[in-house]
Amino acid sequence: MKPLRVVVWGENVHEHKHPTVAKVYPNGMHTVIADALKASGDDVEVSTATLQEPDHGLTTERLAQTDVLTWWGHMAHGEVKDEIVSRVQKRVLEGMGLIVLHSGHYSKIFKRLLGTTCSLTWREADERERIWVCNPGHPIAAGIDTCFELDREEMYGEPFGIPAPEEQVFISWFEGGEVFRSGCCWRRGNGKIFYFRPGHETFPTYYHPMVQRVIANAVRWARPEGVWIDACPNIKEPREEIQPKEV
Ligand code: ZN
Repeated sequence: MKPLRVVVWGENVHEHKHPTVAKVYPNGMHTVIADALKASGDDVEVSTATLQEPDHGLTTERLAQTDVLTWWGHMAHGEVKDEIVSRVQKRVLEGMGLIVLHSGHYSKIFKRLLGTTCSLTWREADERERIWVCNPGHPIAAGIDTCFELDREEMYGEPFGIPAPEEQVFISWFEGGEVFRSGCCWRRGNGKIFYFRPGHETFPTYYHPMVQRVIANAVRWARPEGVWIDACPNIKEPREEIQPKEV
């Protein structure tokens, strides 16, 4: 089987503006996510793209060569060009997988594909998150035993303004009492979408082996299964003969 071509997209702004974030992710969050994916097996071919590159690193040619895209953004959602959002949406509808991480819930591409507000409740209080597996048989939960914990995370709580997930893989509980649908699957057109909640920029979440495991599982789950190019042809010649009808 040909290697799965994964592009890890990072907004890459917090890392340059906030010393606390730069300390945790000196080479950017996208680099840590990409390195973890590279280490997860020879069946993936991983590269990165960032907001600052021409076309945010997502040219038509590059997207055509991308099987799965991962997306982390936060403070610069508004700087992502609508033209690029449309380009990514088109590829998802054709069959490209999309993994949306943490604050990517408010990204243009996630809202565009889901069609809802994607809003939620939140709190930055440096609290424990326990991530429960809802479906132990799901490929994204492979190797995760019942639940795992992150000692320090931001809280995201319900209501989460998403369409009902087609598959619920994880639910999070927070030290402060809230719960949140933290691992959700959808299909849009021919493409698979997975949202995974953890990943606040001031905490070392993307170094956590279980978080890395989930993302590695998710990109493989989101592998395209064929391509569906958008077309709406007029089929003038029927396959079977159509009998003339009496007026
Ligand atoms: Zn956050």
